[in-house]
Amino acid sequence: MKFHLLTIFPDYFEGPFRQGVVARAAQSGSLEIKIHDLRNWTHDVHRTVDDRPFGGGEGMLLKPAPIFDAVEAIWPERTLKQRVILLSAQGRKFTQQIARELTEYDELLFICGRYEGVDERVAEHLADDELSIGDYVLSGGELGAAVIVDTVARLLPGVLGNEDSSVNESFTGDILDCPQWTRPADFRGWKVPDALLSGHHAEIAKWRKQAAMEKTKRLRPDLLR
Ligand code: SAM
Repeated sequence: MKFHLLTIFPDYFEGPFRQGVVARAAQSGSLEIKIHDLRNWTHDVHRTVDDRPFGGGEGMLLKPAPIFDAVEAIWPERTLKQRVILLSAQGRKFTQQIARELTEYDELLFICGRYEGVDERVAEHLADDELSIGDYVLSGGELGAAVIVDTVARLLPGVLGNEDSSVNESFTGDILDCPQWTRPADFRGWKVPDALLSGHHAEIAKWRKQAAMEKTKRLRPDLLR
């Protein structure tokens, strides 16, 4: 899969995409990441990407023209396997289920908003989807885009090794992943549950399912409704 990120801060992604699973997958060719500087689609000496909102109010908005020009230059002929996603606090909330749906596309292009947001014509006439990563306001869409790229990337074939497989994880079923422990079996007097030390696979599986259910009830009862 190919991920495109349209941003006024291209260096922003040096951190998130330079290490870990996504970086490894990019190096091995399992995915490709292209970062596009929105200012490349401006036509004035100041490389202006923003302007004041009609009707007055705080701050500036990203102008529509550079964004439309950029997307149309990146994909001159858009196909159904290419999806434009606008990052927005007003969007529908991103979930693991949406991440799974996004793995069906060949290419995803993320428009990262800044300032007070983006001219609404981008949401209405250019983006296929408007996604939020949660009910809070970030100062830019880059963090949100990095979150979505990371979540989708680890679901792609060949990206995760067996040791960190995404099969038995939180949100793959109805409940959270089970709590887990590693060595030592006794740390400061806090002991690992006996069932996990038994070596009895069926018993361990049963215990884990029950522990996952208890944790879900305690921390995320909304998932069980
Ligand atoms: N005025 C906007 C509002 O109240 O909905 C907030 C604009 S925010 C300061 C600037 C940019 O950050 C947005 O255009 C969007 O791209 C990004 N952003 C902010 N919160 C976000 C969230 N929860 N999820 C995804 N992107 C977000």
